[in-house]
Amino acid sequence: MTPYETTNHFLQEAFDILGLDENYKRLLRTPSRELRVEVVLPRDDGTVESIIGYRVQHDNARGPYKGGLRYHPKVDEDEVRSLASLMTWKTAVVGVPYGGAKGGIAIQPRDYSQAELERLTRAFVRQIHDFIGPDQDIPAPDVNTNATVMGWFFDEYTRLHGFKPGVVTGKPVELHGSLGRGSATGRGCMFALREVLAAAGDSMEGKRVVVQGFGNVGSWGAHLMAEQGAKIIATSDINGGIFNADGLDIPALRDHVERTGSVVDFPGSTPISNDDLLVADCDVLMPAALGHVLTADNAGDVKAKYVLEGANGPCTAEGDAILERNGVVCIPDIYANAGGVTVSYFEWVQNLQNFKWTEEKVNAELDAIMTRAHETLRGVMEEFGVSLRKAAFIQAVRAVKSATDLRGLQ
Ligand code: NAD
Repeated sequence: MTPYETTNHFLQEAFDILGLDENYKRLLRTPSRELRVEVVLPRDDGTVESIIGYRVQHDNARGPYKGGLRYHPKVDEDEVRSLASLMTWKTAVVGVPYGGAKGGIAIQPRDYSQAELERLTRAFVRQIHDFIGPDQDIPAPDVNTNATVMGWFFDEYTRLHGFKPGVVTGKPVELHGSLGRGSATGRGCMFALREVLAAAGDSMEGKRVVVQGFGNVGSWGAHLMAEQGAKIIATSDINGGIFNADGLDIPALRDHVERTGSVVDFPGSTPISNDDLLVADCDVLMPAALGHVLTADNAGDVKAKYVLEGANGPCTAEGDAILERNGVVCIPDIYANAGGVTVSYFEWVQNLQNFKWTEEKVNAELDAIMTRAHETLRGVMEEFGVSLRKAAFIQAVRAVKSATDLRGLQ
């Protein structure tokens, strides 16, 4: 199954449980608009490249389209469509007033200079600017894009449309960004795990955690879970993984990554491959890199009791079914990693009001939203006798359908 087919598989399970008719299923599945644009990039060496960029706007029944922008060689229509759809359901699960969208540019950012990435970002904004805006579609960071890229994005849009900081979130704090946005997705993951453990009468204290991907989501998640008493025994990045049964010193590891650009060769750790790391003996496995890493081939070997989906779409449909059959509790992406879009919402609110919240307020409001969403999902799990993932899709589909019906289809 492709990523988009996988997302539709999870949706279909919710549609079937709710007994929706075929026309409605098609309406909720189909993206509203798909932009495929050519981005022309003059390279530093004087040559010119033509690169393809995408923005898929999936649904806006509950509010403006919202979703990240990814720079990665594997970006294509199918992946962006899948990620846009997931955003529709994610914003509904946590109840922030947005729909879903996603963007992507098919490049390997390592092969480009900072100046080239800036020209590329600005050229992409010029290609899509008529279709985005603070009350239309609001991008944000995702894999290989960060606050700096969002700063360029804001500046280029503002040159075309006047001062509109709310056009994009995840901006630098000095440039209308929100305090707490950098840590938001990892913090939301930590809150989600805390709530799921608490519902089982358990806590994070002493839990052995493995984190795949030590980028924004993985490194913040690891840091905050360790602060709550968990032991991070392994982590990785694209260059390889590291293991220490006694727990990795996360602040020291973050310094090491800052200095060397990778987790590899962290003093006191032994190497572990990204494949072995997924099936390592642990209590919690947090995939926080790319999608489709837990599949029919390896899900049966997962030893963790909990899978905390920091990444979007880390489980294939087959992988998910195997985990559920084996009693592994999956904390699904559309709930677990919704902290990012939630604090993006806080940033947008601050931008619209030209008012700055304290970091304490941001973190407390995020905690309240993640905790409330978990309570709602518990109720749905009991009502339908389903897993957390199915409950999340059921809750999201109900919310989007209800907004669609209330707005009317005339
Ligand atoms: P990032 O670019 O900051 O970090 C990605 C990490 O994954 C890096 O450490 C990278 O080296 C590693 N990686 C990449 N390919 C890998 C591979 N093949 N094997 C192992 N590691 C690999 O990205 P991020 O923002 O942390 O996003 C990670 C995931 O979380 C993505 O799936 C993204 O869609 C999802 N997500 C991010 C946010 C956010 O706010 N940044 C919000 C929700 C979901």
